[in-house]
Amino acid sequence: MFKNCIAGEWVGSEGRENISPSDTDDVIGVFAKATRKDVLDAISAAKAAFPAWSRSGPLVRHAVLRKAADEILARKDELGALLAREEGKTLPEAVGEVVRASQIFDFFAGEALRLAGETVPSVRPGIAVEVTREPLGVIGIITPWNFPIAIPAWKIAPALCYGNTVVFKPADLVPASSWAIVDILQRAGLPAGVLNLVMGRGSLVGQAIIDSPDIAAITFTGSTPTGKKIAAASVEHNRRFQLEMGGKNPMVVLDDADLGVAVEAAVNSAFFSTGQRCTASSRLIVTEGIHDRFVAAMSERLASLVVDNALKPGTHIGPVVDEGQLRQDLDYIGIGQSEGARLHFGGRLLERETKGYYLEPALFTEATNDMRISREEIFGPVAAVIRVKDYDEALSVANDTPFGLSAGIATQSLKHATHFKRNAEAGMVMVNLPTAGVDFHVPFGGRKASSFGPREQGRYAAEFFTTVKTGYTLA
Ligand code: NAP
Repeated sequence: MFKNCIAGEWVGSEGRENISPSDTDDVIGVFAKATRKDVLDAISAAKAAFPAWSRSGPLVRHAVLRKAADEILARKDELGALLAREEGKTLPEAVGEVVRASQIFDFFAGEALRLAGETVPSVRPGIAVEVTREPLGVIGIITPWNFPIAIPAWKIAPALCYGNTVVFKPADLVPASSWAIVDILQRAGLPAGVLNLVMGRGSLVGQAIIDSPDIAAITFTGSTPTGKKIAAASVEHNRRFQLEMGGKNPMVVLDDADLGVAVEAAVNSAFFSTGQRCTASSRLIVTEGIHDRFVAAMSERLASLVVDNALKPGTHIGPVVDEGQLRQDLDYIGIGQSEGARLHFGGRLLERETKGYYLEPALFTEATNDMRISREEIFGPVAAVIRVKDYDEALSVANDTPFGLSAGIATQSLKHATHFKRNAEAGMVMVNLPTAGVDFHVPFGGRKASSFGPREQGRYAAEFFTTVKTGYTLA
């Protein structure tokens, strides 16, 4: 059994099987289920480890993070296969995610050496002022199932880099890759209690973390409803919190777009990683002059994609992550039809050699922006084309959503690209690129119902994982 890690010990007796969505006969392993007591023990261990770790100094933290980065990279094929097997993204996508996790640890290994404060001339003579950054304490990290290596990496690496200790709860659906990251960090030389892993359901394990007054801050990625619960509990405990939540990302295609570029960006945005990305675009907002050509080219491209076992060479789209998500995707396909949109391509369940949750990518046309398929996050390989008159209408439809994570435009007009970058209500804007696909060293995050709190990734992470202290000395 793969156990929880509490105070440097691997513990746990009761477990749950982790099943591959590509092959429901494939049991990846049995993973421990933490009890409420385990969570409280983990929090106590992290609290006890904090004073020493927070004073451990940059070289110690640099060395651990560096070592972890090297090992993750050296094992990228093995870890990528594990990730593809448990989550269902294709092998190349999974290996890419592992490499990204390694790059994130590498980046924060460097940041551990760079953390600096500043001295500021006082407005009063004879007084010295310095501004320093300090760690917060025990950080609760709660992550979703769709990026089980990269998202834990972009939270754990900065938390440790800046001298915090951690209690980490990965998504119950995909614990294996997250377990592997914790194992690598333990063996890279982390002192006992600095990083604790507690696996199990959010309603028990996650809730015990958010209810604890000893958690100094929570960084969460997941759905908007869970994010709201975390916000409420955090306000109650007067603690800092950071939420990365859902999206309903628009991809605008203008008449003057390069059709090939637009179709590749849209197919990638809507359907790769089985559409299970927070940055996925399920709203394709297309102007009249290119609409019919775009839809025809999309159908042709979708027909060429192979939906199959994530581990199989040549697969473009792996399975949906589990039966519950598959049911949700099928429900939305039904809702779209009953709302009057036309199911132009796909949407059928597929049978493959192995028993898995295979769904043909579904493309709706004749959708409007007020339909549920255009307003609610589906989180599967389902997208809708919304026809608009011109750029102004496209921008207005793009922004007419409760979410604001990512937005894309396909155009050859510098004027429209520039205007869109300035006026799209999103944290990330892409020109002639998929709405998904981001660098690891620059800010990541959104607006409106998609995000709350400081940005993740890159140097901006210090804003969340440290607190500033201003010191005054009579010189
Ligand atoms: P979720 O259901 O909200 O779960 C996220 C995490 O929260 C899981 O670990 C879950 O535990 C835990 N959780 C559930 N209830 C909890 C509670 N009461 N207290 C504390 N923790 C609790 O989201 P998901 O289905 O895993 O992930 C999909 C969502 O994540 C989508 O909305 C997607 O857009 C979003 N996402 C956002 C970003 C971004 O950066 N903006 C990136 C990736 C994904 P379980 O183990 O029980 O599930």
